[in-house]
Amino acid sequence: MAATLDEPVTAVKGVGPAVAERLSKLGIATVRELLWHFPREHQDRSHLRPIAELKVGEREAFAGRVRDVRQTWWRGRGGVLTAIVEDETAQIAAVWFGMPYLQKQLKPGTRLVLWGRVTMGKRLSVLSPEFEVLSEGDAEPLHAERIVPIYPATAGIGQKRFRRLLRNALDAFGSAAPELFPERWREHRRLLPAAEALEQVHFPDSMRAVPLARRRLVYEEFFLLEAAVALRKRALQSSIEGIAFGIDERIDQRIRNRFPFRLTTAQERAIAEIAADMAKPRPMNRLLQGDVGSGKTVVAAYAMLVAIANRYQAALMAPTEILAEQHFRTLETLLQGSRVRTLLLLGGAPAAERRAHLAAIREGRVDLVVGTHALIQGDVEFARLGLAVVDEQHKFGVLQRAALRWKGARPDVLVMTATPIPRSLALTVFGDLDLSTLDEMPPGRQPIATRIVPPKEHPAAFTVARAELAAGRQAYVVYPLVEESEASELKAATAMVSHLQRDVFPEYRVGLLHGQMKPEEKQERMAAFRSMQCQVLACTTVVEVGLDVPNATVMVVEHAERYGLSQLHQLRGRIGRGEHASHCLLLVDDAETSEKLQILAETSDGFRIAEEDLKRRGPGEFLGTRQAGLAPLAAGDFTQDIQILLEARRDAFALVGADPDLAKPSHRALRSAVLARHGDALELASVG
Ligand code: ADP
Ligand code: MG
Repeated sequence: MAATLDEPVTAVKGVGPAVAERLSKLGIATVRELLWHFPREHQDRSHLRPIAELKVGEREAFAGRVRDVRQTWWRGRGGVLTAIVEDETAQIAAVWFGMPYLQKQLKPGTRLVLWGRVTMGKRLSVLSPEFEVLSEGDAEPLHAERIVPIYPATAGIGQKRFRRLLRNALDAFGSAAPELFPERWREHRRLLPAAEALEQVHFPDSMRAVPLARRRLVYEEFFLLEAAVALRKRALQSSIEGIAFGIDERIDQRIRNRFPFRLTTAQERAIAEIAADMAKPRPMNRLLQGDVGSGKTVVAAYAMLVAIANRYQAALMAPTEILAEQHFRTLETLLQGSRVRTLLLLGGAPAAERRAHLAAIREGRVDLVVGTHALIQGDVEFARLGLAVVDEQHKFGVLQRAALRWKGARPDVLVMTATPIPRSLALTVFGDLDLSTLDEMPPGRQPIATRIVPPKEHPAAFTVARAELAAGRQAYVVYPLVEESEASELKAATAMVSHLQRDVFPEYRVGLLHGQMKPEEKQERMAAFRSMQCQVLACTTVVEVGLDVPNATVMVVEHAERYGLSQLHQLRGRIGRGEHASHCLLLVDDAETSEKLQILAETSDGFRIAEEDLKRRGPGEFLGTRQAGLAPLAAGDFTQDIQILLEARRDAFALVGADPDLAKPSHRALRSAVLARHGDALELASVG
């Protein structure tokens, strides 16, 4: 059998059990994964400068022999190791602090390649350079006199050894890299052949070859991902009978009359897009995204009322009971005096009540059902589900989305996200959905003044809160508890509330809302806050904060550094909902992290914040939960490579458009690559 990249990494010469063990720490188990472990940088050692010609102030690489090594002590800096390195032209002092163990490798006479910043003090020096020992036995061209790769993490294997492993892997397996794109395709798009790209990304002929090689590999990775997305999108849409809802002037007017305000231009556009989808006899699969407070609920309400006007049922699913309750209340207000029959279905209801509710849904005696995950449990059956709205999708995942679809004939699906999603993720994680964006806020919003508060000013933050309370407003104090046990969460929360009550807000009432409470208890506490029975609400968990209390104008977030930027932005969306100006105070533990949160003080644009958040934390963290649909990227980067992503997406969608199941013989390799990489995650196993 020919070599394949899926063989275990031990198939590479030089990888025994011990090395394999170390590689596994880097997530490398197969030859492919080793080959896709790209260098973090390359160093041009093909024309190493003589030491006499090194440029002071620059990062330089050079070679020489160790002449002398000394260990000394500098006050305040500990042990200092100085190696005098020389070539035919000059000497330079290489200096390391607190690394006495390096002495073993730096015996006089040893040949080295060093790289680091060159300085000129009393003499020519290079401080804390990285280096490699060149032994006489080394196959020289691999480590010097050429452009060499420098790898990121090597799990203690060492640069030279790692480089050797990659060389061996490329020699034995490089040509086995499958070529997925025909030559004309590659030429058109400036893509190197696969094997060449792999070779050049590790051992380039020139520095210019590196980005070209990378481009090819990133393109391929995104292409496979987007082809999977395109196939899934087709599977959702093709050959499936959906409901063609009738939407005429009369229905439109009747729905609009229920809204106590004029829709924003963005809302109008989203509603037009949704209405067009709903009118088609194909199931809608649309994502509605917009910043906190941009008015997504109203848009969803419009869609649900269209379904109901057509004598279908509509369901709205929220990630928590509190949010479900919140939505239910909003909708009830909107629907006051109408004939729409609504129902809130939560998890903890008594058996008899639940049975009655399920019967009402099954027999079509309710039109609009709001609930949580409970709505996709096995025993919920709709008489005529026409539209399912899924709020805060990224807490649900692809699989549940699919489960929901089976609940009706073929209901339309509208997914809403709580926070804006960066474009790259919208096109991949949610890439099988059509996209509507609310990029505009309803008028008359009071701005939220956000301040990052360093430790020594924490007491002053509460002064701001007290001033607002004195003016009759209300405040949230949010206290994150990360990965603590239930018992300790309760203890910490309780301790915090008594501290706030006693020391900070003695003349006001402080309420508590935390994750371990029963739903009824939570609802009671929220009702108490809403009706001003308490003025301060201390909350422990983020997701539970789905409150809409316009009189709340202050939010104090303790340990703000523990949250992601988007999460904080989402949190502060709980204030600034009324006629008064609001204050968000992000308390941080040290001045350093305050830098990281600065963007929150600068902008209220959730899309910008989301991009920044993604850049900082990567897609897995950004989405909060592990995304079923997203395999980790080996080559590409969701923030830097968006142009390549768009190109690959366009090509992949065009290809799937022309050959819907990738069934042509010439597409066989592509198809199996897509299925191998993304088949499971995107539920593509059943495609074709
Ligand atoms: P989101 O779900 O996007 O965070 P909501 O739908 O909860 O936002 O809307 C936030 C607030 O703005 C609600 O109080 C809602 O009634 C109000 N609102 C929505 N659309 C408009 C509009 N066009 N004009 C004025 N107020 C609006
Ligand atoms: Mg909402």
